[in-house]
Amino acid sequence: MASFTLQGIPVSRGITIGRAHLLRPAAMDVRHYLIAQEQVEAEVERLQAAIAQVQLDLQSIWAELPTDAPTELGAFLDVHALILSDPMVSEAPLDIIRTRHYNAEWALVTQVDVLSAQFDEIEDEYLRERKADIQQVAERVLKILTGSADQLPRALGVDERNANMIVVAKDISPADMMQFRDVAFTGFVTDEGGTNSHTAIVSRSLGIPAVVGLGNASQLIMQDDWLIIDSDAGVVIVAPSALLITQYRDQQAVLIKAKKKLGKLRKTPAITRDGVEITLLANIEMPEDAHAAIEAGASGVGLFRSEFLFMGRTGGEHQLPSEEEQLIAYKLAVQTMKGRPVTIRTLDVGADKPLEHNEHNILNPALGLRAIRYCLKEPQIFMTQLRAILRASAFGNVHILIPMIAHAFEIDQSLAMIEKAKSELRAEGIAFDEDIKIGAMIEVPAAALSLPMFVKKLDFLSIGTNDLIQYTLAIDRADHEVAHLYNDTHPAILQLLDMTVTAAERANIPVAICGGMAGDVKLTRLLVGMGFRELSMPAAILPEIKQEILGTNVRELEGSIRKILRTYDPKHIQEILVEMREQVFAI
Ligand code: PEP
Ligand code: MG
Repeated sequence: MASFTLQGIPVSRGITIGRAHLLRPAAMDVRHYLIAQEQVEAEVERLQAAIAQVQLDLQSIWAELPTDAPTELGAFLDVHALILSDPMVSEAPLDIIRTRHYNAEWALVTQVDVLSAQFDEIEDEYLRERKADIQQVAERVLKILTGSADQLPRALGVDERNANMIVVAKDISPADMMQFRDVAFTGFVTDEGGTNSHTAIVSRSLGIPAVVGLGNASQLIMQDDWLIIDSDAGVVIVAPSALLITQYRDQQAVLIKAKKKLGKLRKTPAITRDGVEITLLANIEMPEDAHAAIEAGASGVGLFRSEFLFMGRTGGEHQLPSEEEQLIAYKLAVQTMKGRPVTIRTLDVGADKPLEHNEHNILNPALGLRAIRYCLKEPQIFMTQLRAILRASAFGNVHILIPMIAHAFEIDQSLAMIEKAKSELRAEGIAFDEDIKIGAMIEVPAAALSLPMFVKKLDFLSIGTNDLIQYTLAIDRADHEVAHLYNDTHPAILQLLDMTVTAAERANIPVAICGGMAGDVKLTRLLVGMGFRELSMPAAILPEIKQEILGTNVRELEGSIRKILRTYDPKHIQEILVEMREQVFAI
């Protein structure tokens, strides 16, 4: 097969080489995860039971056909029953579960894909169209499987056989991405997605090379194709030559060595050459990630995206994590951080992080009932979380961070809910930190334009640049069609950042940046020069940012910062950014 190269949007760092594992496109969208060896037979039985159930359903539909039903209907049911008993449909997916350890749904759609491709080759039009029957039968089975989805085993264990698997998909939901965390995939390639879509964020925090927004990669790449992902360049090379693989392996080795060297900075404080200390914090999605934060030398957790505990839960509202379950999770992160601050952001669901269960009507999710709006509409869910966070605060240094606030009443209502949670706990004699710090995310332009409203009532601010850019520039951060318009150094963004840091300084309250800009080494000097002293980012990136800070002289940046904030010419902004980075000091 001839080699070819695809260009997409880089979302992570590094190089990986491996074989393609295709996930089924959205039409038959199912969960994808790998099954532990000891669960294989149970998974096989689950699929067999679903197939048997569909056979029974087809029989009873047959039996109940009204006498005047068109004869084709009976014939149609016969065809479906025949398809279902064909070993290519009823047996082959079982082998896929046994050999590849795919979950039942994934195994079934994988086999349906194989059969569909064979049908596409058939010349006879009538026969070719029988492909649709296979898909309909498969959909029936999938419905049974997912109907019992709350009993599904979750992804388990690291399997070395998967160590060079690269997932290729139309898109991967953040919830599915979380499932892959426990599996040894080495890369991700998707047709859709933007730099700061939540799928991209998870891959970054896993430190796994990924390229998104590739258009139609999932159609061009075949199962088991060899791939090279050059994450920094946003490039995917399909079916590379042996020579190219060797060259990339050499580059990979150089990068790994450089990373090791950076690891030596773990205990070095992040202080600029002129003595300005910068607090480097880690963003985490799950409590276990706190270990990576410590490993990377983070001074704390600047953003715990708590919604990842809530996502991918099927079976309705009662399946959301209870107060006790949340307490265990928060406490684990807090105790791992050993007294360092842990900023737990309250539930930020909506947009590209939907809950499985959400009865609210969603027209335009990014502008809809997301984050604090959702929490204020669902006070019980919010209260359960606040109580859990407060209880965790008895075990360390916890801060509460509220996302997507734009209105004064949202601040007031959130503070009132926190007060209510506190008084409940007091009355129950349960310990918590009475002086817990409460902050808001500045991620809606309205917030950045009405800072006095925030600084008066809150203890700290944290800028979510991912959403601030999305909402200021009016582009969906997960939509690859508008990814080229996602511009973090747009003059409007720089002005909003400047306004926020200035207002926080005046009010004498801390302000952090926890969005993607904080983890972009090309912007570190800009942010530090503008006056930001706290940056929170994926742990995997932290050592590189620290190295950049160690080579920075804040005083020498003053002139450039003044210039950059005065110009509205994007080209000039880029030139100044490059200039600022030209002063490279060896560490
Ligand atoms: C942000 O919006 O920049 C942010 C940090 O939050 P999230 O990416 O989870 O929306
Ligand atoms: Mg956000």
